[in-house]
Amino acid sequence: LSIKAEELVMLKKLGSGNSGTVSKVLHLPTQKTMARKTIHIDAKEVIQSQIIRELRIMHECDSPFIIGFYGAFLHEGDVVICMEYVDCGSLDKIFKLTGPFPDFMLKHIAYSVLSGLVYLYDNHRIIHRDVKPSNVLLDSKGNIKLCDFGVSRELINSMADTFVGTSTYMSPERIQGGVYNIKGDVWSLGLMLYELASGKFAFGGAPGGAAPGVSGLKGDPQIKTPDSILDLLQRIVNERPPSLKESDGYTPELCEFVELCLKKEKDRPDPHELLKHKFLADFPEPDSLKVSAKYRSDIKKWAKNVRRVQKGKPTK
Ligand code: ATP
Ligand code: MG
Repeated sequence: LSIKAEELVMLKKLGSGNSGTVSKVLHLPTQKTMARKTIHIDAKEVIQSQIIRELRIMHECDSPFIIGFYGAFLHEGDVVICMEYVDCGSLDKIFKLTGPFPDFMLKHIAYSVLSGLVYLYDNHRIIHRDVKPSNVLLDSKGNIKLCDFGVSRELINSMADTFVGTSTYMSPERIQGGVYNIKGDVWSLGLMLYELASGKFAFGGAPGGAAPGVSGLKGDPQIKTPDSILDLLQRIVNERPPSLKESDGYTPELCEFVELCLKKEKDRPDPHELLKHKFLADFPEPDSLKVSAKYRSDIKKWAKNVRRVQKGKPTK
């Protein structure tokens, strides 16, 4: 499928981040609804063409935990990526509607994100590099899908020249400029789970300001608000990572799981090891690509209700 800019009709703006803008669009020839991401990159045309070539690997990514890909092209100096539209949107947006997530959704998210990371790495040697709530999507059937992973070396390089690649979900070893491996994504998953469970931003501070976390979160009043992004990065490196406490009503399995994700690199398990953790004991082996039968109906019902709230209907 070769998509042309003029075949896409804008339906709705879905949001924009540091790197670009995402819109819900209709592809006229196929009548398919898609999500279109437009990224402006100040790079030579050869580099831009190289990015488009590299993005083609996404055609080969075929997993229920990875966003579907329709195609990418250059348009008026922008890189345009057409991907599957996921109807409930990203976890940061959902969090603003629902508040802290129930335990079965945290399990399902952890299981799906780890399965997606394992798929990308084992099949395509891709490290995600940007796991955070806005890059994890939920559909109204309850599927969790990863997007915005580092497929294109040139795209990563082009963005690394700016401050854009700096995220508060970055692991301490990455902030310190060490080698970056798949365990960096595990750290990011741990921070994300901490936030989605507690409703608190992991290293203090208010979202949207100096320390953007899950938007809509209040900073923990016990923790001083970081003065700047550099202050925050320094804290990630120097301070003890946050932890969930059983005394706040979390299960011991969840507390231990998050703690493992937030260990220093050498003690941190990799995704394969974490999939065997007792927090995920009710989920099948990742290769079977199934949601746990035990939670399937809870997950579906929860996702359906998110969609109903988004449409302004009462929950069921
Ligand atoms: P950053 O640029 O810092 O990574 P971000 O991930 O929020 O932040 P974008 O990747 O540009 O920025 O995405 C903007 C918003 O669009 C996301 O927050 C998400 O809610 C929405 N979005 C992205 N992809 C899709 C998709 N395939 N289906 C539905 N919504 C999407
Ligand atoms: Mg994104």
